[in-house]
Amino acid sequence: MSDIKDVIDRKTNTDEEELERQRNCIKIASELVRERSEHLGHSITYHVTTFGCQMNARDSEKLSGILEQCGLTYEDDELEADVVIYNTCTVRDNANQKFFGHLGSLGAVKKKRSDMIVGVCGCLSQEKSAREKILASYPFVALIFGTHNVFDLARLLVIVLTREVTKGRGSTVTEVWDDTDRVVEDMPVKRNYSFKSGVNIMFGCNNFCSYCIVPYVRGRERSRTSEDIIGEIKRLAAEGVKEVMLLGQNVNSYGKGLSEDITFAGLLQKVEKIDCIERIRFMTSHPKDLSDELIDVMAASDKICRHIHLPLQSGSTRILASMNRHYTKEQYIDLALRIRERIPDIAITTDIITGYPGETDEDIDDTIDVIEKVGFDGAFTFIYSKRTGTPAASMPDQVPEDVVKRNFDRVLAKVQEISTKQAARIEGRVMDVLVEDINRQDPSLVTGRLSNNLNVHFPGDASLIGKIVDVKLTQCKGFYYIGERII
Ligand code: SAM
Ligand code: SF4
Repeated sequence: MSDIKDVIDRKTNTDEEELERQRNCIKIASELVRERSEHLGHSITYHVTTFGCQMNARDSEKLSGILEQCGLTYEDDELEADVVIYNTCTVRDNANQKFFGHLGSLGAVKKKRSDMIVGVCGCLSQEKSAREKILASYPFVALIFGTHNVFDLARLLVIVLTREVTKGRGSTVTEVWDDTDRVVEDMPVKRNYSFKSGVNIMFGCNNFCSYCIVPYVRGRERSRTSEDIIGEIKRLAAEGVKEVMLLGQNVNSYGKGLSEDITFAGLLQKVEKIDCIERIRFMTSHPKDLSDELIDVMAASDKICRHIHLPLQSGSTRILASMNRHYTKEQYIDLALRIRERIPDIAITTDIITGYPGETDEDIDDTIDVIEKVGFDGAFTFIYSKRTGTPAASMPDQVPEDVVKRNFDRVLAKVQEISTKQAARIEGRVMDVLVEDINRQDPSLVTGRLSNNLNVHFPGDASLIGKIVDVKLTQCKGFYYIGERII
């Protein structure tokens, strides 16, 4: 026991020392899991439930990787698992509500299964008020940790398993950090797909858009070195990965703060050189930092996918200024049209918020005007959600619900009209498709993705999964295609 305490409490000064400590924690956790399994008479299972964005999906792969190294096995049903981790999102209030709904349902199950261990991590745990709510109303939660210490799960599991914390109020292990400069490389990861993978290139965000909580819960922007990123992608390529998605809240500011002199476009050029990587995607691009260099690199590339997600948020220059986005309506349109001119087959998708404080019908007209002029291939449309602590939350002229709903419907209808037209542009063409899965509705079909991110369903079987094949796009169904394979 004193050895365990020593490892748990040891202070580390470098990322390498921390990695060593985590490896020791995994060994100790594996032993504790083995003992628990013998005591209960069955293997210990886990389930990680993910809410939110691609960043969270990637963190969940890391959480699953650590849990499997600790000897736990995957259980598909959240309500049946012995260890359940909720990786939460708090970007909009409906994400919070969804999570608390899950937690409530699990509470009823937990009453009958005292051995179950419930953990909560992710963006919502970074918020003090949310943590207080969990501690007060869901005392069965054994562990709360945050976005900065995902790598620490094995150590936290050791603490939970050795403290008998599952037995009542006040014993929840809570370790949430406000920020970190730690980037612990080479921790285990369990990938959801064998042929594609997300790769974090940076963490956090420095932009402080007035409506957004992400900078408060994900901390300051930190880029990984290109050496670490390229090393990871080479390993993924050796394991059979064909497509990588480079992840960051604002990939266009990649490299700031690193000792090496590198831009995001420069990083893409390095990734392009890796053999066996056939497709490169990235997410998300902030319009204010998108360089001509990036457009040139994309235009010249055979591997960078013909898709860019370029969040607009609003088409009104007045609202954009209040949102702290650092571009005008005209600058956004000019940028999007320049991208289209240089890369004609590109799909441009976006995020749009309606109901931001002070938004008028004229502002919505501007948003609709941008949708028409840019011709978006797709858009996520969101109703503004007030996030406590952000500047927009205390702005005076919050928009009444009925007005927001009316404007949201206008924006959504325009997005659907334009994106359906855009999708039909490529009907009849033969294009590369990376096959991802068996179709959920019809098992005689497989589902794949075009370089421009549209889905295609066509006859095929599981042997095609992970392969890139030629498919004729026979029928456009608005936001997806029906096709047939060309051999
Ligand atoms: N970093 C990315 C960027 O700047 O575009 C986006 C990250 S955020 C998780 C994804 C999207 O959520 C944003 O583009 C924005 O449209 C939306 N969003 C963020 N805060 C929101 C809020 N308070 N209410 C509604 N939508 C919000
Ligand atoms: Fe949020 Fe803006 Fe950062 Fe995107 S860039 S995560 S919208 S603060």
